[in-house]
Amino acid sequence: MSDRKFDYDLFVIGAGSGGVRTARMSAKYGAKVAIAEQQYLGGTCVNVGCVPKKLLVYAAEFSSEFSSSAGFGWNIEQSPKHSWPQLIANKNTEIERLNGIYRNLLNNSGVELFEGTATIIDANTVSVNGSEYSAERILIATGGKPFVPDIPGKELAITSNEAFYLEQLPEKIIVVGGGYIAVEFAGIFNGLGVETHLLYRGPKFLRGFDDEVRDVLAHEMKSRGVHLHFNTDIQSLNKQGDNLLATLNNGEKLEIGQVMYATGRKPNLDNLGIENTQVEVSSNGSIVVNDQFQTSEPSIFALGDVIDRVPLTPVAIAEGMALSAHLYQGKPCKMDYDAIPTAVFSQPCIGTVGLSEEQAREKFGEITVFKSQFRAMKQTLGGGDEKTFMKLIVDTASDKVVGCHMVGEHAGEIVQGLAIAIKAGATKADFDATIGIHPTAAEEFVTMREPAS
Ligand code: FAD
Repeated sequence: MSDRKFDYDLFVIGAGSGGVRTARMSAKYGAKVAIAEQQYLGGTCVNVGCVPKKLLVYAAEFSSEFSSSAGFGWNIEQSPKHSWPQLIANKNTEIERLNGIYRNLLNNSGVELFEGTATIIDANTVSVNGSEYSAERILIATGGKPFVPDIPGKELAITSNEAFYLEQLPEKIIVVGGGYIAVEFAGIFNGLGVETHLLYRGPKFLRGFDDEVRDVLAHEMKSRGVHLHFNTDIQSLNKQGDNLLATLNNGEKLEIGQVMYATGRKPNLDNLGIENTQVEVSSNGSIVVNDQFQTSEPSIFALGDVIDRVPLTPVAIAEGMALSAHLYQGKPCKMDYDAIPTAVFSQPCIGTVGLSEEQAREKFGEITVFKSQFRAMKQTLGGGDEKTFMKLIVDTASDKVVGCHMVGEHAGEIVQGLAIAIKAGATKADFDATIGIHPTAAEEFVTMREPAS
């Protein structure tokens, strides 16, 4: 610990997933810690990311539940009506509750909170609300911000930030983008009854995911009524009365209520004063750090979305845990980015961990692939043709399961458990030796015997 010739041992900029965890853990280990937040406690995840998104996904999922309930004997006499303003008001109340929890967590761990924009003045000085504070170390945990490409009329479009606060749902929407945020919002809008057009400039969305998983999801989304336009982009946006007119690169014109861009995120370095330091920034705008999250300015560290390694909340939190234990407990800074499980909260949901078939083939050469595609039991009485899809990728030489993918109900919940097995190095023989839980969809993961290829 420092001899306290600085005001603080650690000054954290940004009270999001990574910043809050690093601040709390460092304080717990005895450091004198301050944190600055300019907008909302809990950062992107709590306010305009994971949490409100999942609440909206829950809301959207009811529509298919209502329609399949008849087969189970339910008679819903009037067609259910949805109130978007009610959903948003309830969501906002829940987020305020979480903001309060974050405030208490920081208070209770002795972290001093400054509400305002923090600017770095030099390698050991931060300014907030007109006052300057010195710190032995500074942590940049300022997250990311949505990126919208430069097209004529871009100011007429919204991003996910605004989508969470729309006053009313439009009748028709275009979501632009091919990443998980675009796919999830397309599912949300479609589930809530909005005519939804998902536009992506590439041939298939969810680049980096297993190819078949991408195909299966595209098929199921189309069946649920989402209009998928691949190899398509917006050239320009214009006002048309109360609506917007989107001119597409194929010449088509779509009159639409809203356009939401989910075309990637950029590290947030706004007003940070990075130019007052030796901190190196890469060509994509992310802060360059070594394995100890140290920037090229030795007293300044960075983690989370601003370093753009794996922009997910649990990763930012794990990075924060690793850094605080390293700085204030003398532990080696260990961050393992292998086999990070993840979900896409689309309808149906994707859960995935490890390598896609394509990545595994490239890495191991010889692999064995096991697949299963079936109509889930709930569909028998509920109606509908939706298929659940599961896939295991095995390194043939070692028999280790190196990839596990699912498209179907509760895929995120199911794959989280399997991720432990995969992280622990489970072999296909271990999967085969595991008894299934019957009747579940998940049991299929331990009963796939015949390789597909
Ligand atoms: P953030 O959580 O973004 O926090 C950064 C904070 O720094 C912000 O509060 C910001 O106001 C503050 N700040 C910035 N500059 C300054 C400054 N100069 N002074 C003071 N404060 C400043 N991840 C998942 O794991 N699962 C999901 O389902 C998921 N869904 C998502 C859905 C959406 C729509 C989005 C946008 C993201 C989603 N993410 C999800 C990603 C996740 O939110 C981020 O990976 C995570 O929040 C990153 O944490 P962070 O600490 O790096 O930054």
